[in-house]
Amino acid sequence: MRSPYFTEEHQRFRAHVRAFLTEEVAPGADTWERERGLPRALWKSLGEQGLLGLLHPRAAGGGEHDLFTSVVFLEELGRMGYGGLRAAVSVHAYMATHYLAAAGGRALQDAYLAPAVRGERVAALALTEPGAGSDLSGLTTCAERDGDHFVLRGTKTMVSNGMAADFHVVAVRTAPEASGARAGTTGLSLFVVDAALPGVGATPLETLGWRAAGTATVVYDDVRVPAGRIIGRRDSGFYYLMRGLQLERLVAAVLALGEADRLLADIRRWVSGRELFGGALARLQAPLHRIADLATELEAARQLVHHTAWCYQRGELPATECSMAKLYTTELACRMADANLHLQGAHGYLDGADAARAHRDTRAATIAAGPSEVMRDIIGRSLTR
Ligand SMILES: Cc1cc2nc3c(=O)[nH]c(=O)nc-3n(C[C@H](O)[C@H](O)[C@H](O)COP(=O)(O)OP(=O)(O)OC[C@H]3O[C@@H](n4cnc5c(N)ncnc54)[C@H](O)[C@@H]3O)c2cc1C
Repeated sequence: MRSPYFTEEHQRFRAHVRAFLTEEVAPGADTWERERGLPRALWKSLGEQGLLGLLHPRAAGGGEHDLFTSVVFLEELGRMGYGGLRAAVSVHAYMATHYLAAAGGRALQDAYLAPAVRGERVAALALTEPGAGSDLSGLTTCAERDGDHFVLRGTKTMVSNGMAADFHVVAVRTAPEASGARAGTTGLSLFVVDAALPGVGATPLETLGWRAAGTATVVYDDVRVPAGRIIGRRDSGFYYLMRGLQLERLVAAVLALGEADRLLADIRRWVSGRELFGGALARLQAPLHRIADLATELEAARQLVHHTAWCYQRGELPATECSMAKLYTTELACRMADANLHLQGAHGYLDGADAARAHRDTRAATIAAGPSEVMRDIIGRSLTR
C-alpha cells in the first residue's frame, strides 16, 4: 500500500540506503553475528553516510532531517534481517544519543554527540539493572556528590553496545533522600560516562539473538564522573526518560515493521518455489490463508506506525500510539518469523538459516524497551483513566 507520508526525496533516499546496506553492510553481517560485535570501520562508514545523525542537530554534525527520513532508514535497517546490527545502530543513533541532543548542553554535544554522529565514538544506553527492568522506579545505581565530581556505584545489565561503547548514557539516583531499594521515580539523573574511566567494567552476555549487539553487564565501581556530565537538569532524569522512551518504542516499531516486511517477502518466495505433492506449496489453501492474514496485519501495522511517526513529528508525545505501534509490530514480527520458519520445515530450523536467526531476533523486541505487558498497561490505562 502507498503511504501519504513519503515524498519523492524520501523514496530516493530509500533507494540509496537500501543499496548501501545491501552492498556495503550486509556482506559482513554473518561474521559480526559470529564475533558478537560490530567493527569500528562500520561505525565510521555509517557516520560518513550521515546515517548516525539523521535526526540530530546540524550544530553537532547531524542532518536535522524530518522524522520520516529516519523512518525510511530504520525500515531499511529492519529489512536487512540482522537484529544485533539494527539494535546496535539504533541504540547508538537514536536511543542513547537522543538524550544528548534533547537535553545535553553545547559542551556535551561537542564532546559526545558530534563524534557519535561521525561514527568515531560508540554510544550505549544503560538503564536496566539486575533488579529493575520494566519497573525503572526500582533503579538503585546511585551517584554521590564529591566536590566537582559525582561518584557512581551500581550495576547495569543487558546493555546493547556494552562491550564496544566509548560512552554510556546512564540513569542513576542523585537525590540522597531518594536512594534506597524502592525510591520510585524521583531523584533520577542521566549521566554521560566514559567507558574508559577507572571503575567501569563490562562483561559480555551470550544472548539468544541480537548477537552482533555486543550486549554486556556493566559495573560502575566508585567511578568519578565530572559534575558537568549530567545531561540536562539534575534529578529530572525520569522526565527525560519518559519522553525518550516514546522515541525508543517508535524506533523499535519501525525496525520490527521493516523486519516483518522482509519476512513476508521471504515467505512468499519460499511457498512459490517449494514443490511438494505435485505442485508449489503456494497452491495449498492453508499457507495461502496464513499469508493473507499476515499481509493484512502488516498493512495495518504500517498505517499505525506511520501515523504514530506523523503524530510524533508534529510535536505531540503520542505515548499511547507509541505503545500500540511497539506492541503490535514487535508481536507481528514474531508471528511472521514463526510462519517463515514453519513453512520452511526443517530447512528453516537449521542453526545457520536466516529463518532461525529471525526467530531468535524478533523475540527480543517484545521484551526490550518495555515488554508487551507494559505496553498493554500503558494503552489500557490511557483508555480508562
Ligand atoms: C536483547 C535485549 C537488549 C536490551 N538492550 C538494552 C539496553 O541497551 N539498555 C538497557 O538499559 N536495557 C536493555 N534491555 C533491557 C530491557 O529493556 C529489559 O529487558 C526490559 O525492560 C524488561 O526488563 P527485565 O528484563 O528486567 O524483565 P522484568 O521487568 O523482570 O519483567 C519480566 C517479565 O515480567 C512480565 N511483566 C513485566 N511488567 C509487567 C506488567 N506491568 N504486567 C504484567 N506482566 C509484566 C513480562 O512478561 C516481562 O517480560 C535489553 C533487553 C534485551 C532482551
